[in-house]
Amino acid sequence: MRRKLAAGNWKMNGTAAALSELVELARQVTPADAETLICPPAPLLYPACDKLRGTAIAIGAQDCHAQPAGAFTGDISAGMVADTGATYVILGHSERRDLHAETDADVAAKAGAAWGAGLTAIICIGESGEDRTADRTLDVIAGQLAGSLPDHATGENTVIAYEPIWAIGTGKTPTLDQIIEVHDFIRARLTGRFGQQTGDAIRLLYGGSVKPDNAAEIFTAENVDGALVGGASLKAADFAPIIKALSRA
Ligand code: PEP
Repeated sequence: MRRKLAAGNWKMNGTAAALSELVELARQVTPADAETLICPPAPLLYPACDKLRGTAIAIGAQDCHAQPAGAFTGDISAGMVADTGATYVILGHSERRDLHAETDADVAAKAGAAWGAGLTAIICIGESGEDRTADRTLDVIAGQLAGSLPDHATGENTVIAYEPIWAIGTGKTPTLDQIIEVHDFIRARLTGRFGQQTGDAIRLLYGGSVKPDNAAEIFTAENVDGALVGGASLKAADFAPIIKALSRA
């Protein structure tokens, strides 16, 4: 049985004042709910971990560098992320692939660094609207999966987030059948590469315009083990119903 995971990606949103949303979320989420994770901007990692100690909410970063230390102005290492008390790191989000030219090889190197620091890597993959229209979705997903995921992935150190780029922040979502098709495909690729036990243990999240009113339907898919949520994770009032829908699924 894979434990369900509701992960919130705050992107470049939130200052210290936003920590009150975390406290409110922690008030509503219990250990009986789906595993819940918030990935705030890097300056909030320490205070968020501090505020949430002893609650059911985990904290993660949105990126890390592949190297442990050095002359990389503006970057943070996986060890630094772990030092804050964070336990997860999002890697290869389409905004990083697109705006920071991150390649599959970069993402794989970062995943190795994350594992070395004891973090669980949430590795993002997903097709563009153009890929979808040209019927290249599964080819793109297969390529990203093969290139971004190092050997030695396990159910403990890795989560895959399928995020169609055209669905991120747009209010558009794939049909349930399209989500099922891609998630089943990813599962088959994982079991093919890592064996049945490991392939079955790695959790698969759907991401892209998940909201309180569409979450329950998305969570009916067998290989959707949770969600990576952007905009709707910023407010406890929006994220809590998504977590509750996942907990009931
Ligand atoms: C994301 O940024 O990973 C995301 C899925 O954003 P949104 O939920 O806002 O579409």
